[in-house]
Amino acid sequence: MIEDAQAIERVSSARVPTEHGEFQAQVFRDVGGTEHLALVFGQLGDREVLVRVHSECLTGDALGSLRCDCGDQLQQSLARVATEGSGVVIYLRGHEGRGIGIGHKIAAYALQDSGLDTVDANVELGLPVDDRRYDTAARILLVLGVSKLRLMTNNPAKVAGLREFGLDVERASMSSVPNKENVEYLRAKQSRMGHMIDGLDADAGTEA
Ligand SMILES: [Zn+2]
Repeated sequence: MIEDAQAIERVSSARVPTEHGEFQAQVFRDVGGTEHLALVFGQLGDREVLVRVHSECLTGDALGSLRCDCGDQLQQSLARVATEGSGVVIYLRGHEGRGIGIGHKIAAYALQDSGLDTVDANVELGLPVDDRRYDTAARILLVLGVSKLRLMTNNPAKVAGLREFGLDVERASMSSVPNKENVEYLRAKQSRMGHMIDGLDADAGTEA
């Protein structure tokens, strides 16, 4: 359980209209000074809340890079929360490249272009395979009054990472659309990190 939800500070809040509808953006600063965003849609209420805990990915989210599925998952999350009528999308900063930062992530991409997969590329660089922590996300959810949630993710480590802090988490699966640039990356996430991705058969991504 988390006894120190006050270890994050709410900095500011304003409405942010998007193509999916209008969210209330709340900014939280963690003890290290990093600012994170919670996009809240509608009234959260007492029942299980639909939540995405999204790891920052500049290339995928902002640039639409096809090397990963992050941008699509972010848009899918915003759309699903809006369709549901309520929910939260937390945008966690400092999670670029599973926590290794943009410089290292691009270096890992170069290694992947020479044949390593996403896991071995990090290892080759002497970096952790996944350096993300979910304590800040758990604190933000508790400050928002969310303790029971349906988490939109294919990553079992994310579910476990939030349960560690006493949250009642059920997984809601997300679709991942393979293309020829990301199919090996998705396969590595499935086989080496236990991600639960539907539709990744032998032919996946070949025609995209
Ligand atoms: Zn990404």
